[in-house]
Amino acid sequence: MEEMNELFYRDPYCRSFDAVCVSCEKTKRGWEVILDDTAFYPEGGGQPGDHGTLNGIRVLDTRRIGGQVVHITEQEITAGTEVHGEIDWERRFDHMQNHTGEHIVSGLIHINYGYDNVGFHMGDILQLDFDGEVTFEMMREIERQANRIIWRDLPVQIAFPSEEELSVLEYRSKKELTGTVRIVTVPDADICACCGTHLKRTGEVGIIHLLSCTKQRNGTRIEMLAGNRALTYLEGIADQNTGISHLLSAKPLETLKAVTRLNEMNGELKYRMNGIMSSYLQYKVQAMEESEGTIVMIEDGLDSNAMRQLCNMIIEGHKAGICAVLASNDAESCRYLIMSSGMELKDICRTFNQKLNGKGGGRGVMVQGTYGVPASEAMRVLKSEL
Ligand SMILES: [Zn+2]
Repeated sequence: MEEMNELFYRDPYCRSFDAVCVSCEKTKRGWEVILDDTAFYPEGGGQPGDHGTLNGIRVLDTRRIGGQVVHITEQEITAGTEVHGEIDWERRFDHMQNHTGEHIVSGLIHINYGYDNVGFHMGDILQLDFDGEVTFEMMREIERQANRIIWRDLPVQIAFPSEEELSVLEYRSKKELTGTVRIVTVPDADICACCGTHLKRTGEVGIIHLLSCTKQRNGTRIEMLAGNRALTYLEGIADQNTGISHLLSAKPLETLKAVTRLNEMNGELKYRMNGIMSSYLQYKVQAMEESEGTIVMIEDGLDSNAMRQLCNMIIEGHKAGICAVLASNDAESCRYLIMSSGMELKDICRTFNQKLNGKGGGRGVMVQGTYGVPASEAMRVLKSEL
């Protein structure tokens, strides 16, 4: 592990500090600034690097390069000058809430099921990979336990055990470690070797919400949120549910039942609608005279299935050699489907697409797409030129 005496380790709650600029070099990343000490946490252990300002100049990222903490800034800072640093604290605190929350969840999964965290990614949503199967019920149980650890407001302890102490200590670790090992302990939840920044007490995590568990090739991926992110997410979910609850006049905890019923009703309606539509089209086609000519018609309200059905009936019933059905999308555009009893339609389709600002195509005896003109205008042109 790295030296562990930087300011962000000595005081992870330090938001502003004064230091001296040791060096500043221009690279393709920006200006790389090294200070004699810093509260900026460099990217590591799945936790992103800090943002903030140095003498008002934006720090875009912080990384550890060659053992040193490098601040990537927008502008040059002269070596030897004193700098005042300000951490983007809202962002960092969010990282600490989510990182500490991740310790609690990974530790509890290890204690309960013996699985190891084998992958971690902190994007907008945290993704944790485990080397064993976690079911939805198991995940909910871990969530309950994790939030109880938060309620108990336990102290998060940092220690540097000796080699002898380490040799008998059971702790989680992603890799073989040499030198000083920093052990982070969340009582009753986790003991883990980690060089990130952590909250002092579990109460500050606020809330842990586990979103999903997905089976992977060698285990399970769990998505989680902690702290303010979890609260914001749950507010969004609650707002959605309140809206659905009002729309369907269902109690907030009965919206799923109401939507399921609505879905079933919708399926039945579609089925009945299709039957009525078929009968309507049949009557319409039966009334037509047999012909080898051309039929062009507007039938608003037909979907593409019904448009195809209508054309099939007309062609198979020998009511036309070629037929075009149009259905309005809106006042400015319409959908088309053209079918013939044998004539290749590709070239005809292209010609009318050009004339009528259209898209779409097809091969053989059926083509379909949209025209960028009103249905009545497309009807006029097709009737005179098809
Ligand atoms: Zn950690």
